[in-house]
Amino acid sequence: MRYSYATHLECSVGHDRYDIRKLQGLSAAGKPLLARYDLEALRREVRREEIARRPPNLWRWHELLPLEDPARIVSLGEVETPLIALSHSPRPAGFRPPMVKDEARLPTGSFKARGLAVAVSMAKALGARRLAIPTNGNAGAAMAAYAARAGLEAFCFCPDDTPEINLSEIALQGAAVWRVNGLINDCARLVESGKAKFGWFDMSTLKEPYRIEGKKTMGLELAAQTDWQLPDVVFYPTGGGTGLIGMWKAWAELTALGWISPPLPRLVAVQATGCAPIVRAFESGARAATAWENARTIAAGIRVPAALGDFLILEALRESGGFALAVSDSAIEAARQQVGLRDGLLLSPEGAATYAAYLEAAAGGRLRASDHVVLFNCASGLKYPMPAVTARMDVRAPFAAGISLPSPGS
Ligand SMILES: *Cc1c(COP(=O)(O)O)cnc(C)c1O
Repeated sequence: MRYSYATHLECSVGHDRYDIRKLQGLSAAGKPLLARYDLEALRREVRREEIARRPPNLWRWHELLPLEDPARIVSLGEVETPLIALSHSPRPAGFRPPMVKDEARLPTGSFKARGLAVAVSMAKALGARRLAIPTNGNAGAAMAAYAARAGLEAFCFCPDDTPEINLSEIALQGAAVWRVNGLINDCARLVESGKAKFGWFDMSTLKEPYRIEGKKTMGLELAAQTDWQLPDVVFYPTGGGTGLIGMWKAWAELTALGWISPPLPRLVAVQATGCAPIVRAFESGARAATAWENARTIAAGIRVPAALGDFLILEALRESGGFALAVSDSAIEAARQQVGLRDGLLLSPEGAATYAAYLEAAAGGRLRASDHVVLFNCASGLKYPMPAVTARMDVRAPFAAGISLPSPGS
């Protein structure tokens, strides 16, 4: 029995093979590399019950992760995240309450910790010293944290409208961080152009092969949590798409292992109307997306005008029988308020977008009432701006203005 059953890396288009024991970026064709595993041996040697008996954290899946030596793990306690029913938030009559997979519980308050825990562990094990990343905030915060823990240098490039708290948490965790007067793709170009000069290893989404392996654990975890009976539909707030591609990869691996069986969940990519390149490409039947101009949305994590893995996202949506849906910032804000007020769960704007999309899909007849639905809340709501509180009370004349609760609205 091996700790990891990873065997090699493979180009996501050409299928040519690469050495998994060396630090790798993109394939020769400039496409993402994907980790491959000896699933036949794993199927013979390990049973799913054994994994289910281990402590519930990310590393219980070590056979399906690339790290060969447990001593090389860089960890901040990557817990299994709970599924929480939205029992009280509005839903169409007769529908089951959707479940939220609450990724806010992870270190650094977002699911970026999954990807960066694995990617930083691998980068360190394979000899990288200086990590650089273009980031809308959460990825930089996670990279800074894991790099600090690993004793590596971290350099983060953020669009200047990145949520303030992200910039501060990155800086407090020892990374160098800059506000860049451009979008995430401009930040990516800066990393690209500084690489050779400053000796950076590029940790951009899908430009190194292991963030996706870490994010894949969302799909693995969901399977174990639902007693290997996956939900019918999964709504995922899609930026670079690592999580969506990762979950689809996870379920393909679990299917090959015989640990789950079809039908697999339908995947729904949720974007904001102010930045919806995947939705546009999906609806036009295209195999790849074109860059979105003037991207704008309060959901910073999904403000990604062009994704390197666009073709993999579109493939996963179509193979799963899913679809792509864009929601407005006002629908996102209303959703965030509803779920906070009714169910006591403070979602990130990206997480709120999945609930808004769920309501829209249900109203549009794209869901069955009997569907088991999972929504992803990818970060803590506490990391984002919140409405100011203006109500004041005078201790000398209390209750003068009356006492009332916020109205639930509709
Ligand atoms: C990064 C991020 C996303 C998008 O995730 P991808 O897997 O890169 O598409 C969504 N929500 C939040 C809060 C994020 O930080």
